[in-house]
Amino acid sequence: MSEEIDWDSLTFSLTPTDTMYIAETGMDEAWTPGDLMPYGDMKISPAAGVLNYGQGLFEGMKAFRTSKDRVVFFRPDENARRMQRGADRLKMPPVPESIFIDAVEQCVQQNLRWLPPCGRGAMYVRPLLMGSGPILGVAPAPSYRFLVYVTPVGPYFKGGVSAIDLLISEEHHRAAPGGSGGVKAIGNYAPGMMPSKNAKSKGYAEVIYLDAETHTCIEEVGAANFFCAKDGVLYTPELTGTILPGITRDSLIQLARHNGIEVKETRVTAEFAMGADEAFCCGTAAVISPIGSITKSDVKASYGDGKPGELTTKLYNQLVGIQNETEDDVFGWLHEVPL
Ligand SMILES: *Cc1c(COP(=O)(O)O)cnc(C)c1O
Repeated sequence: MSEEIDWDSLTFSLTPTDTMYIAETGMDEAWTPGDLMPYGDMKISPAAGVLNYGQGLFEGMKAFRTSKDRVVFFRPDENARRMQRGADRLKMPPVPESIFIDAVEQCVQQNLRWLPPCGRGAMYVRPLLMGSGPILGVAPAPSYRFLVYVTPVGPYFKGGVSAIDLLISEEHHRAAPGGSGGVKAIGNYAPGMMPSKNAKSKGYAEVIYLDAETHTCIEEVGAANFFCAKDGVLYTPELTGTILPGITRDSLIQLARHNGIEVKETRVTAEFAMGADEAFCCGTAAVISPIGSITKSDVKASYGDGKPGELTTKLYNQLVGIQNETEDDVFGWLHEVPL
């Protein structure tokens, strides 16, 4: 099993690996540690809660090989806690943080040959929690499965970071007050595929969703959080329950404040954002994607002639620097995976 892996051909797509992790429990039972098994298809009841009613959550996180030749996760405790909050919302038994961390560590350890070298990508780790037991009526499933698989991914931007063109969605919203937009519920994502495809067919990279109540404020960019900067101040939509609390978002807020940059978590109207000096979106997959333009019906606002802005670049370099240990981990965000 020593076939060569062509690291430079990796993109953000699925490469099957060797080993996955599965734990199961009943509705009111405590979780116990699960088992490692070969990566592959699994059995599930046709009547599983997740298949019939979307009782499921996912997480997305990365493990890196750093410049100090350590293997680290970036803030995995935050992923564990976010999945617990989602489990509460979807009436599933929350996975204890210790079992979550142990599972993701084991998956990285068992698939170490798939971990890209420093700076050439990362191990993307995908924990899932689902209602796996059979249920016919609309109600919580009688049993639950916690699953972790991993896949190596390349750097999101090949040949350097490039700015993206975005379209404000006029017809569709991602989340409504009181709904599930604030957790990583699997059911939140399929409804975004049609708007996203439509925007892509018109030459845009992704859609921007406005709030469902007033249709004036920016909420998210596809499945990434939004930031803009004006006159040296950084703005990002406040967490009102309809926005997914991104760990990258939180990290960038802390980093910016640490740099003495003022950050406002507030309502960010499309109008304000379109008059900003720079804009970007962020998430685990790409870290930061600079925004080159935003279009709202027939009005197009452009930022910095296609080049990432100064603040955008600074924050990107600092966050990536912490992740690959070329910058000090001043916030204690790295979690070493014992090898
Ligand atoms: C996962 C996700 C994000 C980004 O969260 P990170 O923790 O930074 O990866 C943002 N918005 C949505 C809708 C998401 O699902």
